[in-house]
Amino acid sequence: MANFVGSINLGSVLCKHCGNLIDTVDTEKVIIYYSDCLQCNKESSEKEEEKTYEY
Ligand SMILES: [Zn+2]
Repeated sequence: MANFVGSINLGSVLCKHCGNLIDTVDTEKVIIYYSDCLQCNKESSEKEEEKTYEY
C-alpha cells in the first residue's frame, strides 16, 4: 500500500494548443483542464487583430 504524505495536485491545467503544463490545482479527482498558455494566448490574440470582417 502506498503511503501518501502531504497533498498531491491531481488537477492539471494543460495548454489546448501546444500541450504544455500551465499549472496544477489541488483537486480530489484527476481532472485535466485545458486553457491557453501565455505564448499561445499571445499568438492567438495577434491573429485576431489580423482578422478582417466583411459586412
Ligand atoms: Zn500553448
